[in-house]
Amino acid sequence: MARSRSLPPRLLGAGFRGFSLLPLAISFVVLVCLSLLAIQLWTTLRAREGQLLEASRESTNLAQSVAQHAYDTIKEADTVLVGLVERVETDGVAGLELARIHKLLVNRVAELPQLHGIFIYASDGSWLVNSQKTLLSNLNNSDRDYFKYHRTHADRGPYVGPPVRSKSTGHWIVTVSRRINLPDGSFGGVALATIDMNYFRLFYERFSIGKKGAIFIANGKGILLLRRPFDEGLLGRDISKFPIFHDYLPKSPVGTAVVQSRVDGVTRINSYRRVEEYPLVVSAALSQDEVLAAWRLDTVMQNAVGGVLVLLIAFIGYRVVRQIELRVKSEAGLVEARNELEMINETLARLASQDGLTGLANRRHFDQSLLAEFSRAQREDSSLGLVLIDVDFFKQYNDIYGHVAGDECLRKIGKVVGYSMRRPGDLAARYGGEEMVVLLPGTELPGALAVAEGVRQAVQSLGIEHSGNALGVVTASVGVAAFMPKHLENQAVELVELADTALYKAKALGRNQVRYESSSEIAAEQAATAFAFR
Ligand code: GH3
Ligand code: MG
Ligand code: MG
Repeated sequence: MARSRSLPPRLLGAGFRGFSLLPLAISFVVLVCLSLLAIQLWTTLRAREGQLLEASRESTNLAQSVAQHAYDTIKEADTVLVGLVERVETDGVAGLELARIHKLLVNRVAELPQLHGIFIYASDGSWLVNSQKTLLSNLNNSDRDYFKYHRTHADRGPYVGPPVRSKSTGHWIVTVSRRINLPDGSFGGVALATIDMNYFRLFYERFSIGKKGAIFIANGKGILLLRRPFDEGLLGRDISKFPIFHDYLPKSPVGTAVVQSRVDGVTRINSYRRVEEYPLVVSAALSQDEVLAAWRLDTVMQNAVGGVLVLLIAFIGYRVVRQIELRVKSEAGLVEARNELEMINETLARLASQDGLTGLANRRHFDQSLLAEFSRAQREDSSLGLVLIDVDFFKQYNDIYGHVAGDECLRKIGKVVGYSMRRPGDLAARYGGEEMVVLLPGTELPGALAVAEGVRQAVQSLGIEHSGNALGVVTASVGVAAFMPKHLENQAVELVELADTALYKAKALGRNQVRYESSSEIAAEQAATAFAFR
């Protein structure tokens, strides 16, 4: 009988050790794309951070320069004031040689380019002496902010007032002033130096701070002295409530902050600092938009290139995944088709070697097996047994019970004969008509006789009614032969002929019995063991 062969189930679409290739490929492509995007994002953010840091450094340096400039400018003017105050206080106003001082002041103003003018006011605000070529004495400055301040404050430090328009020249000026005390410590007047705003303005214009950058200088109270971009309307504006003054300066005299301007709405990186010794605050600021403009362009370019790359990888990945998918599918289809083909082949092979009525092997299969087993027995020096079974009076059975019943009877006997196989190598076959055969490789005569007797008894035990048989039931006669093929230089067919002779003997001796036949050379040794069946 054909042994059933089935294909081991394969892992369809499997890569290795249970990892399916398809999800692995998809994960890989997604991972690559995500990694690229992450790297891109990281690089972009790092570049932005770098740009802002650079801008912050630049604005800090700028603020430092502006502060230094303010300090130097005011310090020079203030030094003159300190000398003047000391002189007036020592000599007294009354004793002043106005003409000499006037000359001194004219010279000082000529020496220092930032100085617009130097003035000394009496305690009532009237002009005592100043640096102008022609002395005007009919004017009164008691209404000025700095005058009011010194009159009401006893401190001796410098005071930087709000920007004012000069009464003498009409220029915008910044005032630095000091109080003059009378010998008793009471208010004796004010010494004032005025600095032309243009001096600051020209200095601030020199810096390259972009279109939206800004620089400002304010006094200690948060009054704006000057701002670039210049706007006359902003001069003197109170910015003490703006974030730089309100939030940042109280925490630290120097710093950098990103703040949206209350003046023009532009967000800037502001570096601010207090000027040493003087009540002044300066700030230099770069527009965040302008600082990041180059970075934005870079980012757009990088993102475009990166995006195209990611799309390309995703597309190629998609194609690869599709290919794998198709391959997996076609492979699955092939395996399925192959399995079906194998099954069909098996069925065909079985049908080709099986007897349709009894389910036993057919004559063709038996003939092939006989030849194969015969030569194996020759090679291996082993014995081959054969049991030939013929139903008794079967012609009559057919005649009495009909062919259909005859077939049914043969089917039952076929089953009994099939059960007689004990070893994997045994083969039960329908030899032809109502004759069946059992081939027993590696079996000597006693074993074969035992099988034969088992079959004979089993057939009788089936108890199939047969009125044509003296026993009243169906019986069978059995002929047996067994030998070691190497003893004879004969053909396999001789084994069948011996069994057939034995069967004939069984028939002749009254049927329903087992007989054996052996060749003359081995007859003697077999006779002893099989005496009972002779
Ligand atoms: P005996 O063997 O006892 O000498 O007598 P017999 O009647 O059995 O004689 P023989 O073996 O010569 O007869 C064989 C008969 O078996 C002939 C045929 O009618 C019958 N036969 C053979 N093949 C089949 C089959 O496939 N189906 C049926 N129903 N009968 C079959
Ligand atoms: Mg027959
Ligand atoms: Mg017969």
